[in-house]
Amino acid sequence: MMQASSSSRRRQPIHDDETDGGDVLQRPSHQPPATSRHRGATAARSQPHARGDEAQAASGSSGQGQQPRVRAADYRPQPLDRDSAAAVGQMIAGYGPHEDTIRQAMASLEEATSDLCEVEETIDNEAFVQLDADYRELVDAQAEAKTRKTSLEALLRRLEGEPTVLDPATEYSNLTCEQLEAYSALTTRKKYGQSQEYVSFRESAWAAVEDSAMPPINEFLPAEQGDEDDDDDDIQVGGTRQDYKCPYSAKLLIDPVSSTGCPHSYDRESILSYVGKGEKVCPASACNVKLSHRSLKPDPRLAKRVAAYRRREESRILSAPGTMIE
Ligand SMILES: [Zn+2]
Repeated sequence: MMQASSSSRRRQPIHDDETDGGDVLQRPSHQPPATSRHRGATAARSQPHARGDEAQAASGSSGQGQQPRVRAADYRPQPLDRDSAAAVGQMIAGYGPHEDTIRQAMASLEEATSDLCEVEETIDNEAFVQLDADYRELVDAQAEAKTRKTSLEALLRRLEGEPTVLDPATEYSNLTCEQLEAYSALTTRKKYGQSQEYVSFRESAWAAVEDSAMPPINEFLPAEQGDEDDDDDDIQVGGTRQDYKCPYSAKLLIDPVSSTGCPHSYDRESILSYVGKGEKVCPASACNVKLSHRSLKPDPRLAKRVAAYRRREESRILSAPGTMIE
């Protein structure tokens, strides 16, 4: 049967996710076995989603009398029509908080990692390798959530053109599996080297230890098969910023804002007074991007890096000969 093979085709590190389209779209026969590889996920799924076989098993004889046992195989595809579109819309909206949670976890892990690197004074140890692996899992989770949401959106779009989608569960499953497999097959450089979040994570760790600009991200991600024949090497992010001075005022970036249109950051007060209410050209050399107060965003991550930089500067001054306080 098709569904059985499609769920077993999923590969690690992509895993089942309790916020997927299970409730409305999945027939019970699509439900992967409750023995999930993923700890936590099993418990989370089996409670709110319990129904069909699972519900029967869970409730036992709960006073409802002797109902015939519900067999998953008896369920037929549940067509999706415009009346149920709202439910799909809700599932899509449900990804908002889920994605926020992933972003928060990323921010916390980035912060914890840079703190640890600062204390250890290195990124070259076991602990960092483990944290880096954890962060990559979050990048994977982010990609998976995006894929599942996109599949649901594709189903919704189908309903704009036709009154019903006959077997939405299979379609959702096929669409999702295809995308997840494509993601799994990407090289490390393509999965992580092109993730803004991952680059930011590495930059924070780097900045906690080093004063120099971080080298391009691919220096940390060895080339794999499939990396040679692509021409998007030049799209890789990272390795540009790391000058902690405002290009306009030359002040240290204690309270930085960053441009959304170019890779430059500025001292908040200085740049806001420069830009005023109109548009000005970015003051960084050789950058012609137009700035307005709307294209300037606070940059707490950069602020943290600058703070770490200042702490290193202070400890250098304190440990310089002659200033040692015994
Ligand atoms: Zn610029």
